[in-house]
Amino acid sequence: MRVINFNAGPAGLPLPALERAREELLDFQGSGMSIMEHSHRGKEYEAVHNEAISLLTELLAIPPTHQVLFLQGGASQQFAQVPMNYLTPEASADYLMTGVWSEKALDEARYYGKPRIAATAINKEKRYTRVPAQAELQLDPAATYVHMTSNNTIYGTQWHTFPEVGRVPLVADMSSDLLWKPIDVSRFAFIYAGAQKNVGPSGIVLIVVDKEFMARGRQDIPKIFRYTTYAENNSLYNTPPTFAIYLCRNVLAWIKDVGGLKQIEQWNREKGDLLYGAIDRHADFYRAPVEKGSRSYMNVVFQLPTEALNDTFVSEAKKAGMVGLKGHRSTGGIRVSLYNAVTVDNVKALVSFMDQFVQKHG
Ligand SMILES: *Cc1c(COP(=O)(O)O)cnc(C)c1O
Repeated sequence: MRVINFNAGPAGLPLPALERAREELLDFQGSGMSIMEHSHRGKEYEAVHNEAISLLTELLAIPPTHQVLFLQGGASQQFAQVPMNYLTPEASADYLMTGVWSEKALDEARYYGKPRIAATAINKEKRYTRVPAQAELQLDPAATYVHMTSNNTIYGTQWHTFPEVGRVPLVADMSSDLLWKPIDVSRFAFIYAGAQKNVGPSGIVLIVVDKEFMARGRQDIPKIFRYTTYAENNSLYNTPPTFAIYLCRNVLAWIKDVGGLKQIEQWNREKGDLLYGAIDRHADFYRAPVEKGSRSYMNVVFQLPTEALNDTFVSEAKKAGMVGLKGHRSTGGIRVSLYNAVTVDNVKALVSFMDQFVQKHG
């Protein structure tokens, strides 16, 4: 029996994508072996690899100016690899601070250049409950790039309008909201996303990079860390995580099957509106710290009146078949992740549980 999985990451995967993997596991398309056991230079794997790239290109309407790359090392490696490729000791880059992940990205950039905080949403309690407004950004037109985190997985905030950064290349960590809806890729010089939130299993990072921006990367760093190395070799310079890419292919094919990102966005908005609706109905019981205009549709955070009630909520939900609700260890409380694999019916089940929980404990 599968549970209703609200994990923040690694997160649930769409059931049809897993079922397809099960069907193909022992004998991939009559080849007598699994896709994991194929050479990454063989025609079977190559077809899967290219299909994953072309599905992502189609779903996100990636323009010909941009290229898809697959890397490893998680989004955390990108915190270091982006500055490694683009900064020099005297070069600056602007960072928009919206949570724990932006802080980690900024820290890594200090090894290579002079990153600057161009805006921060941290409050007096050292928490982030919103994203900065455009008017708060103090951008340096000479910055090498601007770095942002599109969705803040831990604090439950999300940029609903991407910042205007002029001619400076915009770099975005989209680990927890890539593919939640259609976006205008041309606004970004560099997008990266660890797959394990909204796209696939852990072990792979999806990158969409502007080719001109990529070409400006440093050539005096080891080949394995240069984006151009991956681009020139169609992300097959060395052995990629073939099974992770295969699973992403299954997820991307599922998104296409159900109607693409417009349909996915409609479901995600319905899910978020249902859950925030329940929170707002019982606002003194389910206390949501995030300002309404910055609420995330991917990670919804709230606190019950006491720590003990938070714990009871998690344990009773588990008895009702719902897992993954405990908040991040740094913030406590409850976190509900509503990635693409979570269905509208899953959220309806949670909302009805929440209504009953207030009756019982409120
Ligand atoms: C999870 C997450 C990361 C870290 O991803 P790893 O793959 O563990 O390195 C970075 N940024 C955001 C926004 C995340 O949600």
